[in-house]
Amino acid sequence: MSKKTLATVWLGGCSGCHMSLLDVDERILEIARLADIVKSPVVDGKAFPACDIALVEGAVCNDEHEHEIQVIRQKAKLLVSFGDCAVTANVPTLRMRFSKDQCLRRSYVEAESNSRGHIPKDPDVPKLIDRVAPLHEHVKVDYFLPGCPPSADLIFFVLMELLQDRVPVLDLGGMAKYG
Ligand code: SF4
Repeated sequence: MSKKTLATVWLGGCSGCHMSLLDVDERILEIARLADIVKSPVVDGKAFPACDIALVEGAVCNDEHEHEIQVIRQKAKLLVSFGDCAVTANVPTLRMRFSKDQCLRRSYVEAESNSRGHIPKDPDVPKLIDRVAPLHEHVKVDYFLPGCPPSADLIFFVLMELLQDRVPVLDLGGMAKYG
């Protein structure tokens, strides 16, 4: 069986789902036996590559995410919504209790660790969108992998099944196929 290509990326998430992925520990070698990892936080590259499987952490929170998820959907044969922020929008939705201006002011002006004294006008700073949303509100999602974060065992099981062209089947509550 030829190797598949696997990409992982995070949008509006805390990186905790990727930390859980790393918790597969030495089993990463079994994944590497079946997959070439073509993008991840440690395989940097600006352009998202074509791939068989994309694990996407985090919700869609800004205009950059809106663009990225469309590109990922075009280039990935299977898109896995990875963790509660991607599945339900979860933690990133907390900012919707406040106005966008309040969020930016808190981040760039009031936060002691990051204060610039002003809200940057830099066009490279992504623009917050009004409504934080899970991935499936923007693109078709093939599999949902809930959990905050999903356990390493669950991630490993699902990846190994998909990499071997099998449909992961779990008990209720584990994961659902999106039809
Ligand atoms: Fe972090 Fe939980 Fe969101 Fe994953 S689901 S990015 S661990 S807050």
